[in-house]
Amino acid sequence: MLCQSCNDYAIISTSNGRFCKKHFIKTFESRTLNTIKHYNLIRRGETIAVANSGGKDSLSLLYVLSRYFLKKNRIISITIDEGIAGYRDKTIDTMKEYCNKWGVEYKTYSYKDFTGVTMDILTKIRKGIPCAACGVLRRYMLNSAALENHADKLATAHNMDDEAENILMDLFQNDFDKMIRLGPESGIAAITGFVPRIKPFLFISEKETMLFSIINSINALHTPCPYAGFGFRGTVAAKIKELESISSRSKRNIVERMLALKKLYQTNLQTKHKKILSCTRCGAPAASELCEACVLKQQIESLKSV
Ligand code: SF4
Ligand SMILES: [Zn+2]
Ligand SMILES: [Zn+2]
Repeated sequence: MLCQSCNDYAIISTSNGRFCKKHFIKTFESRTLNTIKHYNLIRRGETIAVANSGGKDSLSLLYVLSRYFLKKNRIISITIDEGIAGYRDKTIDTMKEYCNKWGVEYKTYSYKDFTGVTMDILTKIRKGIPCAACGVLRRYMLNSAALENHADKLATAHNMDDEAENILMDLFQNDFDKMIRLGPESGIAAITGFVPRIKPFLFISEKETMLFSIINSINALHTPCPYAGFGFRGTVAAKIKELESISSRSKRNIVERMLALKKLYQTNLQTKHKKILSCTRCGAPAASELCEACVLKQQIESLKSV
């Protein structure tokens, strides 16, 4: 298998092409920068908070952003410590090591400080799929950390695999409105209390971020969270991998079709955004009287008192 740019030996083949090491790095970085430019994700002088778990995806994103934007933008790494022993504590050490190496300021916030319990405890006292509660808390805390640090945008390392999973999950759950809010930038800056999220890796696959991190000696932990793979997301992820092995453009087609649909529904989307309320307890944007995080916090309070 030969590189499509120079005929040297190719080290990877994906729906983005076949490349040797040199051209893989070049196209990986230029595709990320093109996504940022095309969708105007980062403007000069903006503060960009980067959601950084200390894993290969978020460290690769931090590496690219610090390399190309640190001179003209403030970049701050935000880590949410879920409190998962033997997993997150290790990735936090890795995150600190690389932030120091690349000269990026970093802050850590924990579920324990926010709810009074770690994720390990929460899985013991609360029934249900761990990732559902974890996702609510992480989204909420990343947004409030970004606000606290005066960030204009919150960059996440969501890649094409993650996006395809989210699209299919929303589709299967019949939540079309939620699905077309996905994409390279979600959230509207005009909604007070919400920091828009950007996804510079949207058109890059998990396989590519993995290789990019290895080539750049980013020694992130590759073992998954002990609670990963439960529930619907795990099933959808496995099905996408199966489809991809039959047709290598499956993920890309799912993401690109959703973006085309999003364009068609843009006006409809803007009307719907106006209906967002403020949580009566914490003031965060909410779909009803209380935001999802406050509902969960109430639930945790009652479980702790049992
Ligand atoms: S896999 Fe689930 S429980 Fe583990 S960190 Fe991710 S969302 Fe949380
Ligand atoms: Zn080449
Ligand atoms: Zn709230």
